[in-house]
Amino acid sequence: MDWEVGSNALACSACKQSFVEEQEIFSALYDEQTAFLRRDFCNGCWSQQDRAAIFSHWQTRIPKKDAPVKRFVDDEIVLEFFRKLEGQDEPLKKNFRYVLALLLMRKKALKFIEFKRTEAGAMLILRDALSQSDYHVADPDLNEEQIQQVTEEIGQILNTKIA
Ligand SMILES: [Zn+2]
Repeated sequence: MDWEVGSNALACSACKQSFVEEQEIFSALYDEQTAFLRRDFCNGCWSQQDRAAIFSHWQTRIPKKDAPVKRFVDDEIVLEFFRKLEGQDEPLKKNFRYVLALLLMRKKALKFIEFKRTEAGAMLILRDALSQSDYHVADPDLNEEQIQQVTEEIGQILNTKIA
């Protein structure tokens, strides 16, 4: 499974100028409570954005058309999104955090330690492969179809094709 950068970030959300191949851009996620909104910015417009309103952001590069080398979103971008979702109570965010955890386990960025039943519900205990810190991830008990749906939403938000 790869984090492949998609090509649907076509223009800056602010100045509407089209992005060009290999341009460095900034992507930001906005927390809309029942959904995450993603916006992409050119360098100039990024410096004028209100950072306090942004849930998570990352820098990326527009891939070359027909590039022979695939470009990938860094695991760190996905991990950062996962970390920011810690302690958030809305069902959408719990679902996102759980599915991101599954994806990060498949990428071996997180390692499964144990499954626990606690008073707060079922929990996955996972370890960050790099920092060795542990995360508790609530298991929202999603079925296959729901997991697939959340995976697709995450793919759209991160502008990433999750195979
Ligand atoms: Zn712009």
